Amino acid sequence: MQREAGTAPVHPSNLPVDGGRMWSDLTALASITEPDRPWTRRSFTPRFLEGRAWLERRFREAGLSTRLDAAGNLIGRREGRVPGAPAIMLGSHSDTVPSGGRFDGVAGVIAALEVARALAAAGTELDHPLEIVDFLAEEPSEYGLSCVGSRGMAGALDGGLLELTGPGGERLDAAIDRVGGNVAALAQARRDDVAAFLELHIEQGPVLEATGTDVGIVTAIVGITRLEIVFSGQAGHSGTTPMDRRQDAGVAGARAMVWLRDEARALAAAGDGYFVATVGIAEVRPGGANVVPGEMRLVVDLRGERRGTMEDFLARLGAEMARIAGEEGARVSVATLSDSLPAHCDATLRAALAASARSLGVSSLDMASGAGHDAAFLSRIAPAAMVFIPCREGRSHCPEEWTEPGQLAVGASVLLEAVRALDARLSRRDAPGGEEA
Ligand SMILES: [Zn+2]
Repeated sequence: MQREAGTAPVHPSNLPVDGGRMWSDLTALASITEPDRPWTRRSFTPRFLEGRAWLERRFREAGLSTRLDAAGNLIGRREGRVPGAPAIMLGSHSDTVPSGGRFDGVAGVIAALEVARALAAAGTELDHPLEIVDFLAEEPSEYGLSCVGSRGMAGALDGGLLELTGPGGERLDAAIDRVGGNVAALAQARRDDVAAFLELHIEQGPVLEATGTDVGIVTAIVGITRLEIVFSGQAGHSGTTPMDRRQDAGVAGARAMVWLRDEARALAAAGDGYFVATVGIAEVRPGGANVVPGEMRLVVDLRGERRGTMEDFLARLGAEMARIAGEEGARVSVATLSDSLPAHCDATLRAALAASARSLGVSSLDMASGAGHDAAFLSRIAPAAMVFIPCREGRSHCPEEWTEPGQLAVGASVLLEAVRALDARLSRRDAPGGEEA
């Protein structure tokens, strides 16, 4: 963590963004919610479209041209000085989980908008175009898919996914068209003209608050591997099956859960990159108070920032589950439900964010993101990085989610100064004889 020695504490009035304007926008967008369950603005719903219409008006008032791309992303654009230059892109999402918070996603969209407004207010023209994006359906949607818009922009929204069905049997491709996308022209949503992508987001965890740090600079967005582990033993009468003659699948499953917890803790303690393991589903069958469990099914969620660590872990897990099953007289099967690679944040963009924090006298901390984000898909087509701001008690995806106005303003300021620096740096690089030619 770094705070420049001798710098004054950060005060909102010293910042290059208008924190009050951001806060009133954030509050206004959050208030577009299902009234009986705040704060809910589910993607593809009328409420979501109402929020988007409000956002588009705000984008236009900030002097941006607006459009919906073929994947249903709302994009505001400010032209740059250099014709044909690739874009610097900022963005996040305006949809929420059911009964979610006011900041997840929205903070990043409002901060991006504020960067555009602060540049205009300062009379700053960039060499590169600036685009700000509200990505469609970042949260898991009713169609069973998350990051719909950023997948589309990365060219990763392929055939099978578009056929997923949601409420009333509507297909995802029809839903994207319904909210203003154009699936027939989906290839046009794929971008190869993005020089840099930055996303501001609330941390959704407790680290920044606990360490008193102003911003987190994300090293990588974790890869996520989900497994289904099923132990099969033999169901029997709990009163009449002696302890030394049991094939108790429940005990095997419980031992597996403890092993997963202990191994993940050991990896974290070894300091070899971020790694977490969670058993969020554990089902015992047949499930009677007087029945020795015949089967236990676990769904395991593993997240890590290093693929090598994940692969080592999976190899040890396979051997360990077999050993536990053997000792309990049970059998075990391990199946992969899903597996995604970690997305590494770009070193140049991270350095720009860190330098921006230093120039503002703001403390920063390098950290992995344990949650998925649109930036993970953008990193497939452009250098991408993220800045985190603290949230109270690390709580997120709940109505209590909270960030202080000053914390949001500090984060947006870091974003703004990073955009200025990257605009200059990218121009030097692209110039004839440029520094990285
Ligand atoms: Zn989010």
